[in-house]
Amino acid sequence: MRQERIRLPGDAQWLLQTLHTAGYSAYVVGGCVRDSLLGRQPGDWDICTSARPDQMRALFADQQLILTGEKHGTVGVVLHGKPYEITTYRLDGQYRDHRHPDRVQFVGELAEDLSRRDFTINAMAYAPGEGVIDLHGGRQDLANGIIRCVGKPEARFEEDALRILRALRFAARLGFVLEPETEQAARAACNTLQSVSAERIYAELDGLLTVPGAGATLSRYGAILAGAIPEVGPCMGCTQPGRWHCYDVWQHTAAAVTALDLRGQDTRGARVLCWATFLHDIAKPLCRSVGPDGAAHFRGHNQRGAQVARGILRRLKAPSYLIEGASGLIAIHDAPLPSGDTAILKSLNRYGAIFLRRLCALKYADLDAHAQTPEVAARRRDVTIFEERMQELSHTGCYTMRQLALNGADLMEDGMPAGPAVGQMLHALLSAVMEGRVPNEKAALLAEAHRLREAR
Ligand code: ATP
Ligand code: MG
Repeated sequence: MRQERIRLPGDAQWLLQTLHTAGYSAYVVGGCVRDSLLGRQPGDWDICTSARPDQMRALFADQQLILTGEKHGTVGVVLHGKPYEITTYRLDGQYRDHRHPDRVQFVGELAEDLSRRDFTINAMAYAPGEGVIDLHGGRQDLANGIIRCVGKPEARFEEDALRILRALRFAARLGFVLEPETEQAARAACNTLQSVSAERIYAELDGLLTVPGAGATLSRYGAILAGAIPEVGPCMGCTQPGRWHCYDVWQHTAAAVTALDLRGQDTRGARVLCWATFLHDIAKPLCRSVGPDGAAHFRGHNQRGAQVARGILRRLKAPSYLIEGASGLIAIHDAPLPSGDTAILKSLNRYGAIFLRRLCALKYADLDAHAQTPEVAARRRDVTIFEERMQELSHTGCYTMRQLALNGADLMEDGMPAGPAVGQMLHALLSAVMEGRVPNEKAALLAEAHRLREAR
């Protein structure tokens, strides 16, 4: 494609050279070749070689080594703080139950190594001087934007069902589509994803959802994804007659994921939002009713959706910040936003500014995936008005006990006996401040405290 010569980082070059000088063959392989040919910066530079692990250990004895993958033929060599994985050429033996290779045979052939890789675009190797070794048409598929299995797709998915999700992840990341036979086989075998471990499913899905091409992939390949998360199945074809919607629940979800704007979010926030948007209407099929006017209603789908999302994320062994963050957003994603300073301060008190900023991002994405009517535009404006005021108050307002101009020690100094009543008083004072009845100033707060104590 763009370049036949790949610029290797100095350390990868040194590793290849050291192996070559010692009489072994060695190549960079897989994702780094794919990304380089696409003009993208590779994350890792993996190497495959004819050297066995014991030979690598001898050769790189002076370096820091990572030996946890040794029985799978992999030795990690750490150079300038960065680990490089070097793996002996291998051909996986028979697979059982769609999961674990029974045995790994070491073979002295690059070709065999490449033929066991998942997709043509991931099955290329490169060495300076030799150029790109592309035995499966990977370059062609890269140029055409196609994910195609190496070999017979049915057999490859039968060996390892996770490849089905990997295909979707690469499609999302690269903006590619599945080659028809690969797609057909993925559809036919998607239920075998149930036998793949939760951790591996989570990792692939997370990679799929957190890239800009996620929505398009969801839109196209929802039926395949339902093999991994059966709860999404009923969203497909779940119609939403009425004046709001122009999509079924699934296509609405995909459009919302596409519309999601992650600017200003940190890594965790972005992950929480991607998953929350993906699952925000997951309970709509469970809550659907049709009114006498023919319009669909989904009463209770916020709360129910939060429960279903929590169940899915727990099952996938997602990190707890994601389970809590996403289900928390889903639980109120469709509820009206507070208006007026007191209500906004109380929502800041209850949820915090970070959560509310995420809620606004989810609401924009959700609304942008509706029919673009004046009503929807008005709701979008309401989100903007809320967000602007909320941001302002999050900097200038008083909505936590810590921000009160008076604390428990002040109350006790003023003669209040220690005990739970102190906390209750601070609570009451904070409410008074948020409600605008008392300014957040020490003298005024003390006066209010006296008044409240006398009133009791
Ligand atoms: P990424 O940038 O996401 O890491 P990658 O292509 O490097 O992309 P990895 O999961 O790191 O993906 O795998 C490295 C290489 O190992 C792949 O490019 C592919 O050649 C091979 N590979 C990984 N998983 C499988 C699998 N399940 N079946 C066959 N080959 C695989
Ligand atoms: Mg990789």
